[in-house]
Amino acid sequence: MTSTLGDVAASLARSPDAIAEAQSAALRAMLALCARGHAYYRREWTGAGLDIASIRGLDDLARLPLTTKDALMAEPEAFRLRLPDLPLEERAIAEVIHTTGSTAMPTPVYNTTHDVLAYMFQARCMAAIAGLGEHDVIANLFPLTPAPMGAFQRSAQNAFAIGAAIVSALPGAPFGAFAIQRSLDEAVRLVALHRATVVWGVTSFVRRVLLRALELKADVTAVRLCAVAGEASSPALREELRRLMRELGCAGQRVFDRYGSTELGALAQCREDGPWHNPAPDLLHLAAVDAETGQPLPEGERGWLALTHLNRRGTVLLRFLQGDVVAVERGRCPDCGRAGERVVGPVVRAKDLVKVKGMLINPAVLLEELARLPDLAEFQVVVRRDNALAPDELVVRVAGRGGDELAMTARVVAATRRAVGVSPRVECVAAGEIYDPARQPKAVRFVDRRPAP
Ligand SMILES: [Zn+2]
Repeated sequence: MTSTLGDVAASLARSPDAIAEAQSAALRAMLALCARGHAYYRREWTGAGLDIASIRGLDDLARLPLTTKDALMAEPEAFRLRLPDLPLEERAIAEVIHTTGSTAMPTPVYNTTHDVLAYMFQARCMAAIAGLGEHDVIANLFPLTPAPMGAFQRSAQNAFAIGAAIVSALPGAPFGAFAIQRSLDEAVRLVALHRATVVWGVTSFVRRVLLRALELKADVTAVRLCAVAGEASSPALREELRRLMRELGCAGQRVFDRYGSTELGALAQCREDGPWHNPAPDLLHLAAVDAETGQPLPEGERGWLALTHLNRRGTVLLRFLQGDVVAVERGRCPDCGRAGERVVGPVVRAKDLVKVKGMLINPAVLLEELARLPDLAEFQVVVRRDNALAPDELVVRVAGRGGDELAMTARVVAATRRAVGVSPRVECVAAGEIYDPARQPKAVRFVDRRPAP
């Protein structure tokens, strides 16, 4: 069959079978390259006695071992493909971006020129699904962080790929000697000045920019879409973005949740709050797996998201667990008819489940419940313990919008009990004590201050 790489419309119009066939062929080619030039997988496969030529397609994929985030963090250089005989564009490093991690030194992910071109193809497909185009003016509100992350670096590539205009506000904590970062008010001014149609950034910062635009009575009426990423966004938070866009008289009130990661790139929703399409199945394969056995789960069953790169030349990851629990659907999308894998939420970060007072709770559910309360300007949930023998304490820190503090406190207590079955202590503080956009790239909504066990 002929390749549809490079032809967005043809790529998105394929049948599920045609996509699976293309993915199997791409997998064979990717594995052949790894067998020659990927230090980590060569070692793993030899150790496991795995004959890689016997992996013929997607049906054999589960015979490959899972790759954990810890394995990548331990030796990121070993995950780079090194093949001196490849064409220059498949060897030259075009950019290094970093994955978030718990360590002080984030993990580098290497992209060759080939990978940047592939990412721009993925961005074109994503834009076609999500309805972005060359008439858009994108206001990039992601910060340039000390270790640059994909979200910032790739914003320009998304605009380049579709011929859109882009302006970067460069918000966030100042570092370095050059005073390049801009304030929140400057970000609002640039959105208005350039008549941005798309506001593109971390969910909590986009919310803060819209709130500030209301206060400043800025004209941001050209905005039609908020494209948010970088942190879990709840239905309540997305609804609030829509409410703010209505209050601001924006041209549209759509919220596009750009689920993705440095390793994954961005996925695309064909409708608001819908599942996320894998926009470029020739580049990427997605599955939900049992993290213990490595076995793929039946369609629709929730498990760990495992992603497999099918056409990369820098850092290459196979069956990589990025730490999210989701379901994966195949077949045609009931909404838009496109095929390829779809990630079905809610996306739960596996590491985010925590034990409080002996109960396993999902803080995301609590944060969602709190985000629904209309009278909170900011909020933060803290778990703490005074000493090893003291009981856990669940504290909800809140900043009001100037209403009745007692009534607000009662609503917070009720919402917390409803969400996680634990009674909190409520502390009223100033908004800036929870989230100061001049100092923090995003709001930290949940903090575990207990001493490590
Ligand atoms: Zn769809």
